[in-house]
Amino acid sequence: MMHRQKNGARAEYRLQEDERIKGSASLSEKFHQLKSLTVDLGYFNPEGVGKSSQIKYVVNLDHAKSVFRFNCVNTECIRGDFDLSQQLTNAIASRSTTATGELCCQGWRSKNTLDTVHCNNILRYKLSLAY
Ligand SMILES: [Zn+2]
Repeated sequence: MMHRQKNGARAEYRLQEDERIKGSASLSEKFHQLKSLTVDLGYFNPEGVGKSSQIKYVVNLDHAKSVFRFNCVNTECIRGDFDLSQQLTNAIASRSTTATGELCCQGWRSKNTLDTVHCNNILRYKLSLAY
């Protein structure tokens, strides 16, 4: 992989992802059967022990996009973040009322460790769904 703009890699990636999100359908457009969605997210360091933050909120289905992703809490992280689009799609397809799991950030820990050290921050999620 080429990294012509090493310093801009993070900003460039975010911009690209923002475009992808904006271009996707809203959750209510894509999943007509979904009536409500609550996400409960716990962010952990790579060892999975130190919790850096926990957020829980009710998703606005008309505004949230079906490219359903959350930023990594590592402010230096490059090309990482957590994408729950597939997990959400699977949960809805099987009409599950809860879906839980853990994702590991596949980005690079910082611009100084591009192609060497992965970010590996952990997101533990719980999706609560109603139809
Ligand atoms: Zn990350």
